[in-house]
Amino acid sequence: MTAESGPKPALLVSACLLGVCCNHRGQASSSDAVAALASTHHLVGLCPETAGGLPTPRPAAEIQSDGRVRTESGDDVSDAYRRGAEAAVSLAKALGATRAVLKARSPSCGNREVYDGTFQRRLRPGEGITAAALRAAGVDVVSEEDVPSGMLVDPGA
Ligand code: SF4
Repeated sequence: MTAESGPKPALLVSACLLGVCCNHRGQASSSDAVAALASTHHLVGLCPETAGGLPTPRPAAEIQSDGRVRTESGDDVSDAYRRGAEAAVSLAKALGATRAVLKARSPSCGNREVYDGTFQRRLRPGEGITAAALRAAGVDVVSEEDVPSGMLVDPGA
């Protein structure tokens, strides 16, 4: 399936960066820099965690040392994270999107570092479940923190 995206290249974006109140606290992480990309891109928002079936708000979860995703109380939400990642990959393919701007440090969307699984607000190098799946599918993933520095250039790529 190929979705119509008009003359601008499609860009998959974490929905919370576009103002959707979908994070685990029920809040958004709106980014003016990301919103401004609408002048050159066809922005398509997706929240992998809600797409995977998780509610909003929801308990925070972190990727554990065994690769599973669990809440602090021990609930294993890995399957929902996997479904969300699959939804993101399917959407990117349908749109023909070769790039994504995802929320930094999220266990789904983080592209360089994530919390270390101890719920102590400690970061480690690594990527979220959806960011990893998109990258494995050939999608170039950056974060909202990369956008002002011009890492997202060449909208025709
Ligand atoms: Fe935002 Fe991604 Fe978390 Fe959804 S899963 S709230 S899009 S960071």
